[in-house]
Parts: sequence; C-alpha cells; structure tokens
Amino acid sequence: MIKLCEKLCREHSLTHEECVRLVRGHNPETDYFLAQQALKLRQLIFGDTVFYRGLIEISSFCKNDCKYCGLRRSNKLAPRYRLSEEEIFSGVEKAYSLNYGTVVLQGGEDAFFSPEYVERIVKEIKRRHPEIVVTLSLGEHSRDVYKLWREAGAQRYLLRHETANKEHYDFLHPKEMSQENRLRALNDIRELGYMTGCGFLVGAPGESVETIADNLMFLQSFKPDMVGIGPFIPATGTPFENESSGSIKETLFLLSVIRLLLPNVYLPATTALATLSSDGYEQGLRAGANVIMPNCSPERVLGKYTIYDGKNIS
Ligand code: SAH
Repeated sequence: MIKLCEKLCREHSLTHEECVRLVRGHNPETDYFLAQQALKLRQLIFGDTVFYRGLIEISSFCKNDCKYCGLRRSNKLAPRYRLSEEEIFSGVEKAYSLNYGTVVLQGGEDAFFSPEYVERIVKEIKRRHPEIVVTLSLGEHSRDVYKLWREAGAQRYLLRHETANKEHYDFLHPKEMSQENRLRALNDIRELGYMTGCGFLVGAPGESVETIADNLMFLQSFKPDMVGIGPFIPATGTPFENESSGSIKETLFLLSVIRLLLPNVYLPATTALATLSSDGYEQGLRAGANVIMPNCSPERVLGKYTIYDGKNIS
C-alpha cells in the first residue's frame, strides 16, 4: 500500500485499477502519509495561503428533485426563500469588506432568477467592484445561458458532477436528469473560458469502491481548476433521510488524494465537513485543501439553505 502511495506522490496519477486498490486498502497509516505529502505539495505550490470565497446562497427554490438534496422540489418541509438584488449586493459588500476577493452566487435552479436577471446582477457586481471575481453555482443551463453570464463578467463556475458512475448517477437523480447533460454542461462551461469546478459526494447512498475510483479517474481526465467534495449528510424530507452520513476520514483521505492527483487545484474544505466536525475546516486544510467558503448570505436566511440537516452557518 505504501508503494502505491509513493507512486501517487511521485507521478501524480493513478490507473483505475490502482484507484480501486488504494480506496479499498487505505488505512490510518497511509492516510497520515498521504495527508503529509498533500500538505507539503500544497505548501510548495501555494505557500501558506488559504483562499477565501464569500458564499451567497441566493435561492432555496429548486425545480430539480435530486434524491439526496433537502432543497429538492418535492420536499414540502424545506424553507423557501430568495434574496432580493439589494440583499445579494449587501452580501457582496460583506465579502468585499472582509477582503475575500471572490464571491460565489449559489442556488437551486430557480426560474425566478432568469438568465437576464442573473446577467444584470453579475454586471452590477462587476460595475461596483471590477476586481471582485464572480463565481456562479446555479446548476445546469444551456450553453447560451452560460455564454451570456460569461460575457456579463462571471469568471468561474462550480457544478459538481456528483458521481462519475452512470448507474450511480441515475440512482441519485430523478429520471429527467442525466449524467450526459451534467457533463455537457461542464464541457460548455470550460469551453466558454470559465475556471471550472466539479466534484462529488462522499459516502452517498449507492457509493462503492468502484464509484469512488470512477470519480478519481474522472478528475484526472477532466482536469478541473477547482474540486468540491464533501460528505453526504442526510436531509429530512428526502428519500435518503434515514441513511447515514459519509465519513470524515474518507473525505480527508480523498482530499489528500485529489491534491496529489491535481497539484494546482483549488480545493475547498467544505461546509459539510465543518458540519460533521467542529474542526472540519482545519482538518480539511491539513489534508491538502486550500480554500474556505464562509457564508456571506444575509442573516434573514441563515439556516434556510437546507441542502442537508444541521448545516454549519458560520
Ligand atoms: N443547484 C446547484 C447548487 C447545488 S448545492 C447545482 O446543481 O450545482 C451544492 C452542492 O451541495 C451540490 O452540488 C451537492 O453536491 C451538495 N449537496 C446536496 N445535497 C447534499 C447532501 N444531502 N449532503 C451533502 N452535500 C449535498
């Protein structure tokens, strides 16, 4: 096992068979080794810099029905809200005053936020603060819509692929969603010149050694600029409400592997990690992550973007 870890550290690549072997055979000793190497590599490339992104959760309405997500349209228990333009701008001011440099507008797929409305918001943010980097995370749209937003000034887009295994994707999503469209969207986003982020759920129902290996292979071939991963956490009112959470240890192990596979990647220690453990951010950073996304949504809606239960709102 240590030999395989050394190969990963040296060559920054793994075959599918090696991914399977590593995911199946890793243990506390190899996890510690990989975390040390991942941290060393991160420090070599980025020094001790941790990058902050101000997260603004603009809407909890969603037309989709993803089985794991508390905001799925059929969840009658989910609190629903949408931010006004002024509330979004005040979130941007908060991020700006804290020197975050980047804002992320994230939300469910809410038709109220039409392409033209989002375009106007992006333009206004860039007009007020041309140096702020605008990141969007608003789900699946047509290439034309991504193009409109890109031309309005959005520079980055986060769209997790959720799982790279087709059967697993179909298991986690309703019939009307497809992995094909998710990947089409990711390719469009990248071709339009966005810095592109993908990522997957750790420990979601239906996950196997094979699906994790598929995720690691996908990251190696897609070579995203950013990768967001976090443990699955059950959400009340969803088909998976009684399932157990993904593991912190497995998430930390995967963060280290991803740092070693993609040395330059922007890799957040995500809120889901901090929700399961009070020092989740610190643990994530020590495993090779280099991004934190503090919540900059207005107080009125804190705790209402309930993609899962007990979400950390700091
Ligand atoms: N609608 C946008 C943003 C979704 S929220 C989009 O489709 O990209 C951001 C991420 O939260 C999702 O991509 C998903 O990976 C994660 N998420 C959703 N439900 C979750 C759960 N129950 N546990 C952990 N993460 C979850």
